[in-house]
Formats: sequence, C-alpha cells, structure tokens
Amino acid sequence: MVRRLLPTLGRRMVGAWCFVDHYGPDNVAQAPGMQVPPHPHMGLQTVSWLHDGEVVHRDSLGSVQTLRPGQLGLMTSGRAISHSEESPREHAPVLHGAQLWVALPEAHRHTAPAWEHHAALPEVTGGGGLTATVIMGELDGAASPGTAFTPLVGADVALAAGASARLPLRPDFEYAALTMSGEAEVDGVRLAPGSMLYLGCGRTDLPLRADVDSSFLLLGGEPFEERIVMWWNFVARTNDEIAQAREDWMTGDRFGDVHGYDGDRLGAPALPPVPLKPRGRVR
Ligand code: MN
Repeated sequence: MVRRLLPTLGRRMVGAWCFVDHYGPDNVAQAPGMQVPPHPHMGLQTVSWLHDGEVVHRDSLGSVQTLRPGQLGLMTSGRAISHSEESPREHAPVLHGAQLWVALPEAHRHTAPAWEHHAALPEVTGGGGLTATVIMGELDGAASPGTAFTPLVGADVALAAGASARLPLRPDFEYAALTMSGEAEVDGVRLAPGSMLYLGCGRTDLPLRADVDSSFLLLGGEPFEERIVMWWNFVARTNDEIAQAREDWMTGDRFGDVHGYDGDRLGAPALPPVPLKPRGRVR
C-alpha cells in the first residue's frame, strides 16, 4: 500500500524534496514484499528510509546493500544510474517506510552517480519527550553524513506518549510533516499516519504534542526556485532531455546494468503526446 504525498495537484516540491511515497505498514509475512525491478534515475537523489522490514538495494555501480530501519540509503543518480529494490527472501513480517526524492540543482545534476549507506545518524534530543534522527541535511546543529546539494533537512521525529515540545526551525526553509506512526499533533493539527501537513516558510520553531508514541518525517529546505521537468524516474529541465533519457534506457545506453536481480528490468512507459513543460514548485 503506497501513498503518494508529493507531487500533488497543488504542490510539487518542499525544498528540494520532489517526490514522497509512504508505504505500509504492510504484513508481508506470506508475500514477496517489495519487488522493484531494475529502473533508471537521472537528476535526483533517492532517499530510502525504513521503520520496519528490510530492502536489498542493487545498482549499476555494483553496490549491493541490505537497508534496515534507522539507516539511510542515499543514491545520487547524477547524470545516470539504475537500481533495483527488493525484500530479501527471508524477511521480517512487516514492511513500512518512505521513498523520497531530492531534485539536484543545475550545478550538480550531471554529477557522477554514487551510493551511500549510513548506519549511524545524528540525533537531536529536545526536552519534553522528543528525539529526532537527522536523515539528510541539518537540524538544530546536527548534520547528517549524507551528501546534500542544496540546503535542506529530512528528519525522523519521535514523540513519546505525553510529549510536548518545540522543535527549532529555520525561517528561510519551507517545511512539511508526514506522520509515520501514532498520532502526532504538529502545529496544533492532529495527523493520521500517511498524511502530510504543509507548514510553509517563516517559522522559528514548531510546537509538537503527542498523546501516544508517535513519529513523523520532517521534510524541509530552501524553496527550490528552478523549474523542473519530472517524468517517470527522471528529473530534467527540458522535454528533450527526458525523451533522450527514455531512449537511452530503452536502448541500453548510459544507465548501466544491475546484476543479481532475479527478473527483467522495467520498460519505460510511452511519453505523453504533448511535450512536457518545465514547472515550478507550486502549481
Ligand atoms: Mn528507484
């Protein structure tokens, strides 16, 4: 069960975050679990984050990595990479996580592809029952080891039952909160799991409460002012770049090969009949 929180009709980005999927928690005890065949990426970073279960990542650089809860799987596609993601044959009964993309800015979008796995991430502990794990970027002086190309933050904020806290924010960042578990009250709004609240810019802190153990992803960053074209698994600036990337994937050029995945690679869908247009962060 996958919920797409970004892009939506009204909003395409929060900072450089341009794609947000929340999946599960699903019982996959008697099922294959996640099975995403090899597919390409361009112009973005993928951020993989798990609360339950595990995912095996393979990519065209030769990386093979089992990702577990609390660990950052960060893939910088740069100009071209391909990867597969699958639950291992022997896996935990529950699968729950988020798949996020970060758009690369013009100066870095053609950079060399890279894979990073960070098992240890810094934590911010506020008073009042708050613990935040910094996944990407920086929060309250704690910085993730993951490579970032624009000023941003991604953090998993855990609130203990009865928590009441204020999380320091940067007024030049825009933010959104995506509830992962429990029922966090963010800026006075109670959020059910799988829903995302857009918080905008101009805040110096964020009031938080929780009656039960809860957690949410805080996503934010400097508003991304470049207009982008996003289609299938690609982020570019023009329709022609997208068409070329699709062609290169279908002919086997540029994106390399993923070894070890038991199955065929994904074919690209047909391009839409009208050229794709660059779009800004807000519709
Ligand atoms: Mn992918």
